[in-house]
Amino acid sequence: MTTNKPTDLVKDWPTFFRNMGVPEEALTGKHAECPLPGCHWKNGFRTAIKNKPGVWVCAGCSNSAYSNPLEFIKRFNDFSTYAEAANFIRNQLGGTAQVSPRPPVHKPDPATEKEAFEREVQKRAWIYDKLAIAVTEGDPVWKYLKRRIPELLEIPKEIRYMPKAQYWDKVDGVMKMLGEYPAMLVRGMDSEDRCVQLHTTFLTPDGFKAPVDNPKKVKTSIGSSSFCYRLSDLREDGVLGLAEGIETSTKCAVRFGHTVWACHSNTVLANFVLPEWVLHRLSKVIIYADNDGWRRRPDGTFWNPGVTKARELAERLRKVKLPSGQRLKVQISYTARIGDFVDV
Ligand SMILES: [Zn+2]
Repeated sequence: MTTNKPTDLVKDWPTFFRNMGVPEEALTGKHAECPLPGCHWKNGFRTAIKNKPGVWVCAGCSNSAYSNPLEFIKRFNDFSTYAEAANFIRNQLGGTAQVSPRPPVHKPDPATEKEAFEREVQKRAWIYDKLAIAVTEGDPVWKYLKRRIPELLEIPKEIRYMPKAQYWDKVDGVMKMLGEYPAMLVRGMDSEDRCVQLHTTFLTPDGFKAPVDNPKKVKTSIGSSSFCYRLSDLREDGVLGLAEGIETSTKCAVRFGHTVWACHSNTVLANFVLPEWVLHRLSKVIIYADNDGWRRRPDGTFWNPGVTKARELAERLRKVKLPSGQRLKVQISYTARIGDFVDV
């Protein structure tokens, strides 16, 4: 038999995923903890969806959008290319299946694509500028951050308070507005200083996480795989810390006394690109790696998502040349205990 896609060769996706090592709880068709490295969103993941073979969705790492099985296989096994994921399928099926190359995908006109991108950037910037205000003592964001990081004296200026944020989520497969909550809003900037992402943490008036399935949400991706929450400006010392979460980064900034930017997740962190203007003021980068614990790959080697991705980034940043002609100094800081710096 000849087919264009290796994923067409799989007849029974739950069994395929099970054999790959996906925990049984994640394969029931009901909401479960996301099994993907670096996500583990509680009750945010679903696969084995009726009439959608192999399709999966996660509130954390697929922005609540349906995603395809190849993407899942790639992320679950930490493959760097789809080709590897496709090969994995063929190997799992015994290497007997014949696969012909995929036909070229129709690409939309670049000018139209650029325009749509710009429009989405404007939209995100507008929400951040117009619907959110500075955090002040006693508001829900202030209470939330003081609870997570008691030693915090000054709220980073990029963190804003949105008094009324609409919470949308899927109910029986349809997106619905389920309520309005106070929220913490932070913007994600790409290396060209464009606002490509917004991170919302839905709260209660008392500064706890709102009683919703997914209190932390980001907007549907507009195709930027590298962005960063630049919580505060670079200081005189030129030291730039990088971590995953907003709370972790804020805590590291307080504890270690330099600027720390949040890179959202280990995948986005690994893709981080330094903005050109930063290079002129930079003396050193310190990556604060989350410790996600070590796990086994299908080939028998071990990896730790937070640590592995931090090392990937370090390796790439060490090749960066500063305007002075020197190579950038990059250091990784680890926590011995499983977790991230906000918990230890
Ligand atoms: Zn996930």
